Amino acid sequence: MAKRRTFAIISHPDAGKTTLTEKLLLFGGAIQMAGAVKARGDARRAHSDWMKVEQERGISVTASVMTFEYGAEIFNLLDTPGHADFSEDTYRTLTAVDSAVMVLDAAKGIEAQTLKLFEVCRLRDMPIITFVNKMDREARDPFDLLDEVEQTLALDVTPATWPIGMGRDFLGCYDLINDQLLFMERSKGQTAGDAGISCNGLDDPKIDELLPAEAAAKLREDVAMARELCPAFDLQAYREGTLTPVFFGSAINNFGVRELLGGIGQHAPSPRMQKAAERDVAPDEEKVSGFVFKIQANMDPKHRDRIAFFRISSGHFKRGLKMRHTRTDKTIALHNPVLFLAQDRELAEEAFAGDIIGIPNHGNLRIGDTLTEGETLHYTGVPSFAPEMLRKVRPEDPMKAKHLGRTLVQLGEEGAARVFKAHLGGEWIMGVLGALQFEVLADRIRTEFNIPVRFEATSLYTARWVEADDHGQLKAFTDREQADMAEDHDGAPVFLARNKWRLDTVQENYPNVRFLKTKEQT
Ligand code: GDP
Repeated sequence: MAKRRTFAIISHPDAGKTTLTEKLLLFGGAIQMAGAVKARGDARRAHSDWMKVEQERGISVTASVMTFEYGAEIFNLLDTPGHADFSEDTYRTLTAVDSAVMVLDAAKGIEAQTLKLFEVCRLRDMPIITFVNKMDREARDPFDLLDEVEQTLALDVTPATWPIGMGRDFLGCYDLINDQLLFMERSKGQTAGDAGISCNGLDDPKIDELLPAEAAAKLREDVAMARELCPAFDLQAYREGTLTPVFFGSAINNFGVRELLGGIGQHAPSPRMQKAAERDVAPDEEKVSGFVFKIQANMDPKHRDRIAFFRISSGHFKRGLKMRHTRTDKTIALHNPVLFLAQDRELAEEAFAGDIIGIPNHGNLRIGDTLTEGETLHYTGVPSFAPEMLRKVRPEDPMKAKHLGRTLVQLGEEGAARVFKAHLGGEWIMGVLGALQFEVLADRIRTEFNIPVRFEATSLYTARWVEADDHGQLKAFTDREQADMAEDHDGAPVFLARNKWRLDTVQENYPNVRFLKTKEQT
């Protein structure tokens, strides 16, 4: 358990997340990629059809878990789909990791999505290691980049390595933690490259032998300045999420990846305490518990199989374990969990806190659900989002309206989008965070459920879940505003605001009703 490092990569599209992921797996000797979940023949085909959709759109819809070993540690890398249109899965995945690696493009620094994702990490005081990628290209001045991270994210920064030159003149880095000179070979091959050359501090004459005089002088000058400007690495500050060590490198050249991995192994936290509504749960508790943070459907359209991604928060899981599903109070026997550590048969039978297992199910498991060995626990923190775009969904064939309703409820349960049914008229409305999600949804509804649909624009501004301590007051509100009321897939009441003015007005008029942007899944 203490050996586990469960983490995700946050970045803006194109910064190099995919390349870095590949290289991490290369260095780590990947055990198995979770995309290759064992499936029956036709399921596999359906899955690859789905992959085609992803490829055509140039987006990665299905997130996955990649487990690999490096040194003495076992790493669980949870993929965060990072296309320009925001995926809620990305946010939720961040609730299942203990730390993150933030990848920046050396020429661009912090970009819009890096910032958004960072904010999610900050809410959880997540420790973050920064990797400045593409140093082999024309890059911004390293001081400038460090300053931007510090200013924009209000985070202390400390360089873990320091770049020697950049672009065509990029020679490598000086490893400030282990006092090593690291040379970059411009090889894009599948070899991990040489380890660094140890130095006896920056005054070591070896540096003058190995580097051109100018580069050696600049390195010494830069490092002296960086040490003056930046605080020294402080493990506790990093673990509390207030300081980020920064590594420079070039993922495509396999450069800086070894140091990054070493840094994660050495500094990143092992599985952290997890919060449940009832109490905090420590990873080393004997009894197994955990929560579902993601549901992946469409593995097999015929059987409607879904995989629930379950983060083990505590205990030592063994295959066949019977667990209590605290939302429904039913018992679920986990006979066929998908374990991502599948190379070794022995390992495939068990998992520990910090690991992710995939639980095949037919829709009884939902995002945010908790499983325990009996205790009543409800893990908190897996969010549901206020949709920013709302559209009506209609079947091309009106005969399929009923069938569509059931499909939408399933998608709502899965967390793929918000699904609302208007009280009056019974129209279905879907809410998402970004327009591209509508296209992805239309594809899924057509291919998996065989219902061609179209999305129609609405003039709706936003949706708010409503609650009140006094049931009578809530009822008075919903009766009065019937025309703008809907319910979500769970039957929870939702107010659909036509514009901001409407929302402001009802909020003023009904001070005892709470208008919630998000509904935390329980
Ligand atoms: P993602 O969108 O963040 O997953 O980014 P990718 O890993 O797909 O990389 C985006 C582009 O940058 C691709 O064309 C990569 O080949 C390129 N790239 C990634 N890492 C490096 C690097 O270290 N140096 C250079 N020059 N290009 C890189």
